[in-house]
Amino acid sequence: MKEQDYHKDTVVIHEGYEDKLHHGSLAVPLYQTSTYSFDTAVQGENRFSGVEKGNIYSRLGNPTVHVLEERMTALENGGGTLAFGSGMAAVSSILVHLTKAGDHILCSRGIYGCTFGFLGILKEKYNITHDLIRMGNEEEIEQAIKPETVCIYIETPINPTMELVDLQAVMNVAERYGLRVVVDNTFSSPYLQNPIDFGVDFVLHSATKYINGHGDVIAGLLVGKDKEEMESIRMSVQKDYGGIISPFDAWLLIRGLKTLPVRMERHTSNAEKLIIYLKTQNLVEEVFYPFDQDNPQYEIAKRQMRAGGGLISFTIKGGKEGAQLFMDSLSLIKIAVSLGDAETLIQHPATMTHAVVPKEERIRMGITDSLLRLSVGLEYADDLIRDMKSAFSVMEAVPTE
Ligand SMILES: *Cc1c(COP(=O)(O)O)cnc(C)c1O
Repeated sequence: MKEQDYHKDTVVIHEGYEDKLHHGSLAVPLYQTSTYSFDTAVQGENRFSGVEKGNIYSRLGNPTVHVLEERMTALENGGGTLAFGSGMAAVSSILVHLTKAGDHILCSRGIYGCTFGFLGILKEKYNITHDLIRMGNEEEIEQAIKPETVCIYIETPINPTMELVDLQAVMNVAERYGLRVVVDNTFSSPYLQNPIDFGVDFVLHSATKYINGHGDVIAGLLVGKDKEEMESIRMSVQKDYGGIISPFDAWLLIRGLKTLPVRMERHTSNAEKLIIYLKTQNLVEEVFYPFDQDNPQYEIAKRQMRAGGGLISFTIKGGKEGAQLFMDSLSLIKIAVSLGDAETLIQHPATMTHAVVPKEERIRMGITDSLLRLSVGLEYADDLIRDMKSAFSVMEAVPTE
């Protein structure tokens, strides 16, 4: 695979695996083992001292997991990847790696709820503080930097408002101040956005979402620009905190990843059809989608994303009751959190994923009671539209103020 540069659509299927070295097995074998035998005592000594490369124990490395890591490195244009047992294990590991007691982390104003929870633990236990700010331009970012700031941690698009953070603006500031930058790229997947191309140091994914794509695994991936630094994280934070992925989950991710490009194309084309439909509905107030030409951030979207992906949020008339009535009136579309699955999912951020965010903060972020988030699946688009159509007609029959 190394002699030639293949397109990413080929990389997801072939990178990091040579079937001829595995009895011609076309599928990547599942090495469901905890440990590895050494030929001799001296070989064991050499593996531990690092003189000889090779397997020791599956918390330090596993051949199935290795294939997944190689593929992700190629997909994100990075130097190395570590696979974790959850997206949160990847988040917590990189934040532990980058900070020490007393440091400060600058975050985009929307971050995943449990990431926010982990920042709270860092603050309480180690006085590692953070600020969540709107990163609308370089000045806004620059003004929030403190002498003890060590890194910038962002999500873009931001969940669930689909607000974007301009990666180039963040990098311009980070380079001026020597700050490390981490991007949670879960919402875009490597198919839509590659932050390392902008100079970002680390990209992480909840692989539970688009990378697996089938709603049956919890896993995380951390890709770094620098291969040596990634190996040092493997042999320190990852080894000693122990948040590794199981070989079987890695095997499922390898299987899911093969269809990432075709799935993302379908998620996107379905989302585009639903947006057109939603915009014509009297009961819909506003629709939020990065690649919508009416989106004031459309230019930023085009600079850093290849397409809009499968997530849409929109506000509906009738406030919380209206939103809940709409959800309850759907039948094909399932009421569930998470995203990136084959099934279309709808959730109400104000009472579900963002229920813990204090109300004023929530409103300031644009997460009102009438906001709904849709993770558009892979179904036939007209069936989804038909489902929504019947839910809207139920709402129309019930007068709302
Ligand atoms: C789901 C999610 C996470 C957490 O990942 P888990 O795999 O559930 O631990 C982190 N960031 C984002 C943006 C997510 O959607």
